[in-house]
Amino acid sequence: MAAQQRMNYCNGKWIESESTETFSVTNPADGSVVSRFPKSTEVDTERAIRAAADAQDTWAETPGPERGAVLRRAAGHLENRADDVAETLTREEGKALAEAAGEVQRAVDILYYYAEKASDLAGEAKAPSGQNSRLRTVTEPVGVVGLITPWNYPIAIPAWKAAPALAAGNAVVLKPASQAPTVVHELTECLDEAGLPDGVLNVVTGSGSEVGATITSHETIDAISFTGSSAVGELVRESATETGARIQLEMGGKNPAVVMPSADVDEAVTIVGSGAFGVTGQACTATSRAIVHESIYDEFVDGLADYATDLDIGPGLEADMGPQVTASELEGTLDYIERGKEEGATLEVGGDVPDTEYDGHYVEPTVFSNVKSEMQIAQEEIFGPVVAVIPVSDFEEAVTIANDSQYGLSASIITKNLSEANRFIDEIEAGVVKINEKTTGLELHVPFGGTKNSSSETWREQGDAGLDFFTTTKTVYLNY
Ligand code: NAP
Repeated sequence: MAAQQRMNYCNGKWIESESTETFSVTNPADGSVVSRFPKSTEVDTERAIRAAADAQDTWAETPGPERGAVLRRAAGHLENRADDVAETLTREEGKALAEAAGEVQRAVDILYYYAEKASDLAGEAKAPSGQNSRLRTVTEPVGVVGLITPWNYPIAIPAWKAAPALAAGNAVVLKPASQAPTVVHELTECLDEAGLPDGVLNVVTGSGSEVGATITSHETIDAISFTGSSAVGELVRESATETGARIQLEMGGKNPAVVMPSADVDEAVTIVGSGAFGVTGQACTATSRAIVHESIYDEFVDGLADYATDLDIGPGLEADMGPQVTASELEGTLDYIERGKEEGATLEVGGDVPDTEYDGHYVEPTVFSNVKSEMQIAQEEIFGPVVAVIPVSDFEEAVTIANDSQYGLSASIITKNLSEANRFIDEIEAGVVKINEKTTGLELHVPFGGTKNSSSETWREQGDAGLDFFTTTKTVYLNY
C-alpha cells in the first residue's frame, strides 16, 4: 500500500507546515512507510492555537444537543470505516489486529457516549435559602484546550480526550504522538465530515519539543490534558505552572497482580499473562509485577512460562503478539532484560529477539522469577512484554511490595478470600483496583486515572468524571 502524505488540520482545512519538511511513520512489523506527516513548527502551532481561540466563543454558545449531534455523526462515520482504521492502526503501531479493532470500537463508543452527555451539561438547581429566588449552577467550557497524546493507544486516547472537550464546548488543539498519528487523522476526518465548525478542532503533527512545548507554554491555552511518560509529564507540569493553565497528567505505571494461595493457578496465569503480554506489554496498565504466594509460586511460574512460550509472535495483522513500536523501545526492553539478569533475577523464558522471518522490532515475551522488589526490573516502567515474579509469604508482605512503587495506576489481586479482596481494595495505592481480573482494560463509563507518579491526581478521564476537567462551574443567585 502506498504511503500517504498527510497534512495539518487547521481552521477546518488540511494545510502543509510552513517548514514544508516532513517525517515518515514506519510499520514496526517490517519497516515499510505507512504515512508522511508535516514536521510542524512553532509558527504552525501558533496558527492552530489562534484558529481555536477564534472559534471558541461560537462553539461554546452552540447548544449542547447540537454539539452532541456532531459527535454522533462522527461516531457513525468512524464506525463505517472501522475495519480500515483498525488495519491502519496495526500497520503504524504494531498491535495485533483484534486489539486494534477493539481500540477503534472504543473510540466509536466514546464519541457516542459523549454525544449524549453534551445534552446534560446545563448545571444543576439548588434550593435557595430565601423566597422569590433561584439558586443554581451553570456549567461552562474551560476555553481553548491543548491535548497531547501517546502512541500506545493512538486513537482511543485522542478520542477520550477530544470527545468530552468538544461535548463541553471547548475548542481544541491536538498534538498526536509522532510514532502513530495516522489514526488521529482518520478520527479528524470523521469529525470534519460530521460538520464540526472550522477552528473547533486543530491537529498539528511534529516533535514534542517544538509542537508540544509550544502548546504547553502558550498563554492562550486554558487547559492541557497530557497522557505519556512521567518524565515528559513533569515538563508539561512545569510549563503549565508558568502560564497558569489547568493540567491533567496521566502517566506511567508499574502495575502489580497479587496471587494468593486460594487462587486457581491456571486462572491466575491467564489473568497475569494476558495483562502482561497483551498489546506487547505496551500499556500503561500492563501487569509488570506478579506478586505470588510462596505456596503456589513454582506452579505459577511454570504456568506463566508456558503461557509466554505459547504466544505466536509476528506482524500484528497475523499474530497474537505484534512488535514493539520502534527500535528504541525494543532496545529499552532488551536493556532492562540485561539488567534483570545482572541483578540476579532468574530468566525463566524469553529475553531475546525471536528468530522470525520478519524485519521488525520483535521481542520474546519474558518472565523473570526470584525478583526482589528493590531490583530495577521491579521498580521501573519497562513498557515491553516483561513480567517480574516476586515471591511473598503472606498477604501483608504482598500489599507492602505492591505499594513499594513510585507509581499507582492499576492493581489486581487473584483470590477467593473475601477478606483479602476487601483489604486489598482498602490498602492498595492505585487509581484502579481489580479483584480476579487483569490490570489492563477499563470500561468507558467509569473514571480512569492513577495516584502517585502515575497521575497529577487532580482529575479523572472517561465516564462523567471525564467532563470535569473540561468544564468550570458558575454559581448563580437570582432574586426576583
Ligand atoms: P511520551 O514520550 O511522554 O510522549 C507523549 C506525548 O508527549 C507525545 O505526543 C510526545 O510527542 C509529546 N512530547 C514529548 N516531549 C514533549 C515536550 N517537551 N512537551 C510537550 N509534549 C511533549 O510518551 P509515549 O512514549 O508516547 O507513551 C508511553 C508512555 O505513556 C508510557 O509511560 C505509558 O505508561 C504512558 N501512558 C499512560 C497512560 C495513562 O492513562 N496513565 C495511557 C497510555 C500511556 P512525540 O511523540 O513527538 O515525542
